[in-house]
Amino acid sequence: MSWDPLDAEQRALRDHVRTLARERIAPRAAAIDASGEFPWDVVELFRENDVFALFHDEEVGGTGTGTLVGLAAIEEIAKVCATSALILAVQELGSLGLKLAGSEEQQRRWLPRLAGGELLCAYALTESGSGSDSAAMRSTARRDGDGFLLNGSKRFITNAGVAQLYTVFAKTDPTAGHSGISAFLVEADAPGFEVARVEPKMGIKGSTTGELVFQDCRVPAESLLGAEGEGFRLAMRILDRSRPGVAAQALGIAQGATDYALEYARTRETMGRPIAQHQLIQAKLADMETECEAARGLLYRFGKMVDDGVDGPELTKISAMAKLKCGDVAMAVTTEAVQILGGYGYIKEYPVERFMRDAKITQIYEGTQEIQRLVIAREMLKESRASLFGAAAR
Ligand SMILES: Cc1cc2nc3c(=O)[nH]c(=O)nc-3n(C[C@H](O)[C@H](O)[C@H](O)COP(=O)(O)OP(=O)(O)OC[C@H]3O[C@@H](n4cnc5c(N)ncnc54)[C@H](O)[C@@H]3O)c2cc1C
Repeated sequence: MSWDPLDAEQRALRDHVRTLARERIAPRAAAIDASGEFPWDVVELFRENDVFALFHDEEVGGTGTGTLVGLAAIEEIAKVCATSALILAVQELGSLGLKLAGSEEQQRRWLPRLAGGELLCAYALTESGSGSDSAAMRSTARRDGDGFLLNGSKRFITNAGVAQLYTVFAKTDPTAGHSGISAFLVEADAPGFEVARVEPKMGIKGSTTGELVFQDCRVPAESLLGAEGEGFRLAMRILDRSRPGVAAQALGIAQGATDYALEYARTRETMGRPIAQHQLIQAKLADMETECEAARGLLYRFGKMVDDGVDGPELTKISAMAKLKCGDVAMAVTTEAVQILGGYGYIKEYPVERFMRDAKITQIYEGTQEIQRLVIAREMLKESRASLFGAAAR
């Protein structure tokens, strides 16, 4: 049994999602991967069962049960289908700008529809020339009459073409560096906005990843999200809170692969006994389970910190640590799961090759593992720690 800090209400919600995942999503997972088609039936399942509501407050139609249970829900879904788990994680990613910086009017207009799943949303920061170095973006937003004109493009945007609401970052003052970036809410039918292409990918195949193009795309002044020039800070605050959604997806993939490999090892026999009785296989299983549990500790700690109202550098650091650990665990554990299944691990009849392909993206998006390490080290260098042996010992 793994560590479970959820209270009774949260546990009931998590268990409900676990049942949905096992009974309704697991049987669909291989087909979603094989077809590469966005699973609208999963969106419908989430709508009907108030799964989107898990990350939202009661005033906007959410369950008001906090971040920890939302992360646990993503984890449960990712145990069987990483694409489906990403739908929930990105609904939170795309809602966070509104939650953190939206005006009362913007929140009233959009959050209930996002909490109910009536609309899907997206977060558009990356461009072809600026991923890790997102402040180097080239998209612009110029004031024009009573609104703004957006020009430029965004690359690798999850939910491209299926989202109706996009949080888009663009330079309102290209001479002002970080402080010249602003955030906008752009609706899918805004004139001058189009999804130019959708990328074929290694994993999370049912999720759309696309390029957005803005050509004199007119948005009203009310679509400015937060203050002009505050967009970059908002983008980073959003990532602090959303990265653990990727961590939860990664942990779910890792635990799903561990559980599957354990089940397989109990029944597959070599040299006269189940492979689970060979100590080298036991060592792998033990390491996989231990790594999942260690990763879960960081992830759930983040969830509890948000629910306890912690913000600022402490949250930034733990968020990056959770993403780093869970992503690396997902990659390592799924690779071992394939190894435990031997040749069967490599073929599509079994789900572990899918887990391994899906795991890789968790080391890349919402900040690569290298960027997480930079964030963690930057926070460490800002901290003042008492010297263990005194200055003289240096
Ligand atoms: C499937 C998918 C979905 C995505 N969804 C979204 C989305 O919804 N919204 C969005 O805005 N973006 C999204 N992205 C973009 C993603 O966040 C970026 O791809 C990622 O941040 C890396 O940027 P890059 O690809 O430009 O790589 P680069 O920034 O070019 O990095 C290349 C390599 O250099 C390393 N590197 C870069 N800078 C440093 C440094 N200073 N020190 C050490 N190493 C460094 C990186 O870690 C990486 O290994 C998605 C990407 C994919 C593939």
